[in-house]
Amino acid sequence: MPKTPVNPPTLEKIINHLGSGIFCCRNDGVQTIVYASNSFYRMIGYEVGEITELCGEESNFVLSRKQRINWSKLAVRLKKCAFIKLELKLIRKDGHHIWTNCCVRLMTDDGIDYFCCSLEDITEKRRSLKKEREQLETIKKAKQELAASEERYRIIMEQAADPICDYNFITQDLYCSPPFKEKFGIEVNADGLLDALFHSDVIFEEDKSHIMNDIYQFINGENPKNPEYRFKDVNGDYRWYRVRSTVIRDEKEVPIRMIAFISDIDRQKKENMSLKEQAERDLLSGLYNHVTTTNLVNKAISQSEAGSQHALFLIDIDNFKDVNDHLGHLLGDEVIEVISAKLKDQFREDDIIGRIGGDEFVVFLKNILSADVMKKAKVLQTIFRDAHLQDDMPFKVSGSIGVAFYPQDGKDYHELFAKADAAMYAAKSSGKDAYRTYAATAYKK
Ligand code: GH3
Ligand code: MG
Repeated sequence: MPKTPVNPPTLEKIINHLGSGIFCCRNDGVQTIVYASNSFYRMIGYEVGEITELCGEESNFVLSRKQRINWSKLAVRLKKCAFIKLELKLIRKDGHHIWTNCCVRLMTDDGIDYFCCSLEDITEKRRSLKKEREQLETIKKAKQELAASEERYRIIMEQAADPICDYNFITQDLYCSPPFKEKFGIEVNADGLLDALFHSDVIFEEDKSHIMNDIYQFINGENPKNPEYRFKDVNGDYRWYRVRSTVIRDEKEVPIRMIAFISDIDRQKKENMSLKEQAERDLLSGLYNHVTTTNLVNKAISQSEAGSQHALFLIDIDNFKDVNDHLGHLLGDEVIEVISAKLKDQFREDDIIGRIGGDEFVVFLKNILSADVMKKAKVLQTIFRDAHLQDDMPFKVSGSIGVAFYPQDGKDYHELFAKADAAMYAAKSSGKDAYRTYAATAYKK
């Protein structure tokens, strides 16, 4: 048998335990409170019994003015239905407000109408709903802004005359704008386009590693110095393009997209290259001039590996004044041209060949073995001997050659030149059409 409690909880205790605010007021104009639970007083921050009427002078502040209820009308409506639910905003004693869900019922007792109300505090619920609505609104706005900027981006991609490529590091998709296909004849947005580009001849072979290095630099937040490369156009010609890129990163600075703008700079680049070439070269012979020869030799020395040996040959045409005197200055020029063409022919692309004065030439050979130096000197001798323009010329053409070695004879161009010059004069003194190394000259100190 369950035990009957001696003192079961009172109705007041039960109501307070439920947490809802309960009150009952008379429909008398000021809504005199005939009962209010402790939980109701707690809800509005008053002491029990501190308020005696809801709409009287002393309780103006409990219901906000804006939502004063017309209690008489409410009573009329409540006579037709069991209850009405209202959302009531109550002003607490401390001035803060709370929102409540209020369920009102009408009770008539002894001919007098009473309103019986049960209130549930929904302030927190409303706050989080409001916050949720604000968050939704922010997301909606962000989405609209994103859609607008995507639209602007799409228009730029489609309207720009120059090709634009957009690479997504996450999906590894590459999108290229329509002019890309027109210029390069490549199907855009194809799967594996990036791989295809690097494995085809669209990018000029020598520029592939340059592009890869520049891409890595970009990803690491650096700006490549010279993002200019050759691409094959739809006609099969390689042209120069400048690629200006922008990397988009996430909040952790991880690159997510790279957008590249490709502009054709072929004409400008070729003009610049030809101006540079002209400034570097001697007009008559097409060989490097003295300044360029000096710079290139010093550059080669500074880039050479420890233990390398290089040779600087200085050659001066023998009795060139006689050539001019007999043949005239114009044919003298022709001799210089013939010698220059043969020098270019006989030596490699990366050998440095310069005409440094009237009838003086420099040939700088990198990483040469001592045993090969004499062979090269003989080749040079032959070039100069073979430069006579006519078989029946009354004199021979020849050159005197001085050789200096890096690093034994000098650490830079000027030191090597001085030693090669001394060796060349030794060759002249020995009767010309000869070669001497600095190590074997009589001028050696
Ligand atoms: P050496 O055997 O001692 O070298 O005697 P050389 O007659 O060659 O005299 P040198 O090298 O001292 O002088 C070079 C001459 O080359 C001087 C000049 O008349 C001639 N020369 C210099 N520049 C040019 C040029 O551009 N064209 C022509 N045709 N002759 C030039
Ligand atoms: Mg000379």
